[in-house]
Amino acid sequence: MAERIAIVGAGIAGAACARYLLEAGREVSAFDKGRGAGGRTSTRRTDHGRFDHGAQYFTARSERFQAQVDDWLTAGAAAPWHGRFCKLDPATGDLMAAPEGVRYVGTPGMNALVKDLLVPVDTRFGARVVGIERAADAFTLTFADGTTTGGFGRIVVATPAPQAVPLLSAVAPSLAAAVDGIAHSPCWAVMASFSGDIQLAGDGIKVAGGPLDWLARDSAKPQRTAGSRWVLHATPAWSIEHLEREPSDVAARLLAALQDLVGDDLPSVHHIAAHRWRFARPSAPHLGSTYLLETGVGVCGDGFGAGRVEAAWTSGRDLASALVAELG
Ligand SMILES: Cc1cc2nc3c(=O)[nH]c(=O)nc-3n(C[C@H](O)[C@H](O)[C@H](O)COP(=O)(O)OP(=O)(O)OC[C@H]3O[C@@H](n4cnc5c(N)ncnc54)[C@H](O)[C@@H]3O)c2cc1C
Repeated sequence: MAERIAIVGAGIAGAACARYLLEAGREVSAFDKGRGAGGRTSTRRTDHGRFDHGAQYFTARSERFQAQVDDWLTAGAAAPWHGRFCKLDPATGDLMAAPEGVRYVGTPGMNALVKDLLVPVDTRFGARVVGIERAADAFTLTFADGTTTGGFGRIVVATPAPQAVPLLSAVAPSLAAAVDGIAHSPCWAVMASFSGDIQLAGDGIKVAGGPLDWLARDSAKPQRTAGSRWVLHATPAWSIEHLEREPSDVAARLLAALQDLVGDDLPSVHHIAAHRWRFARPSAPHLGSTYLLETGVGVCGDGFGAGRVEAAWTSGRDLASALVAELG
């Protein structure tokens, strides 16, 4: 049996899985359809600075994830974000303090976490996998451009669950059926750069009601360039209702919602763009295990947890440990 392992999807889960397998002496190749590292911890580069338009920050609850965070801190890939975190009631304008606790961000952008995990891993970006086949004892991947690569003894699918189902159905129908039960809610994200400061007494603001769910003064995170850059996230309900709208329309609507919250005139907008996350966070996760593994095919990702960076990392790490145990 060939022992090369292919990882399809190199977000936090796939990257954590790949890194551990490599450290355990396995031969690993990772493939991701994105142009760069990050998945939902991506950082968007623009002429007006960078924006973390997916995951905003992360926390560490388990000791082993804290050990990973400590490695990122040592490598300069993460830092604590000592921002002002609060909850805003749009009806009254009241700001309440958010729960205490250390919040971390990737530095200089959230994508630094995945980049750091992938440093020693053979990774191909711009590689959308459209099919997985099993012949004799080896798997072959087919890419969107029609090319193939084969000779893998094990396959890990680390994409959001809805994107995993079609890939799994040919090689592991029972896994496909299990993963099909995982649902994700969408999120519209708007990235806006302003000519001046916005008068809100918070850097990370959870909004209780209205179209907006979260506002972040992205430029206030550690090791960011100066400016007044904000990321606005819509609620799952608003994102579902407006899912197929044009990004420019969504950007205008969420900017208007921000204007309503702020009350005063906003500074002029230098740059604004919207990004649709179709599978932002699991609304119906798989319960009872942090990954699935069957006849040489493993599945991991935040769909096996709470829709957080830590859950995705834990899922990838646990699957890697199971593969190492299985391979002996
Ligand atoms: C808007 C938003 C806000 C969030 N806020 C927070 C937060 O504040 N704190 C927190 O802890 N978490 C947050 N999260 C959740 C967190 O980002 C995710 O839980 C985590 O990043 C998921 O990692 P993953 O590896 O499971 O999936 P992903 O990051 O989605 O990685 C999957 C990868 O698979 C690739 N892929 C998909 N299909 C294919 C294919 N066919 N072929 C090849 N590659 C493929 C994708 O390009 C992607 O890189 C947020 C997420 C979003 C979207």
